[in-house]
Amino acid sequence: MKRALCPGTFDPVTSGHLDIIERAAALFDETLVGVAKSPEKGGGPLFSVEQRVAFIEEATRHLPNVSVRPFDTLLVDFAKREGATVIIKGLRAVTDFEREFQMAALNWRLDSKIETMFIMAIPEYMYLSSSAVKEIARHGGSVRGLVPDHVAVALERTLGAH
Ligand code: ADP
Repeated sequence: MKRALCPGTFDPVTSGHLDIIERAAALFDETLVGVAKSPEKGGGPLFSVEQRVAFIEEATRHLPNVSVRPFDTLLVDFAKREGATVIIKGLRAVTDFEREFQMAALNWRLDSKIETMFIMAIPEYMYLSSSAVKEIARHGGSVRGLVPDHVAVALERTLGAH
């Protein structure tokens, strides 16, 4: 039984995140999406950890081997506690590489039994990020298609997009 962990802040989850989660779910017996509370990231997340978890749960309802849980500890400790042996990260452009390379090396140093693997973003989502989506919504642009519909509605409600 192979269990993978897809960690992130997911503030909010985007179609790019969901593509990685779906592809991980097709490769492993079980995929756990770990939602970091991340109170310090960029002045604090827009959505509460409970909202971020609920958005992903709704968007992955069709995937029976995917579950979603919040965490607030070291990533390798969370992986160990949940019985996950593989950490899956999505890679967009080269800009992701340096940060991901550093995190993978540090996590390996903390626990070499937990492997980090990367899945390449598809070209369509290569430039998609949660921060870009929030920026678009904040200025009244449409985020339809970039995030699941229920997340678009929440963004419109929270940031006042049309
Ligand atoms: P962000 O980097 O947008 O703040 P997270 O911290 O929630 O997002 O990222 C969680 C994981 O999802 C990271 O491995 C990140 O590289 C990956 N990811 C984010 N956006 C995309 C995308 N559009 N396509 C593929 N992977 C992505």
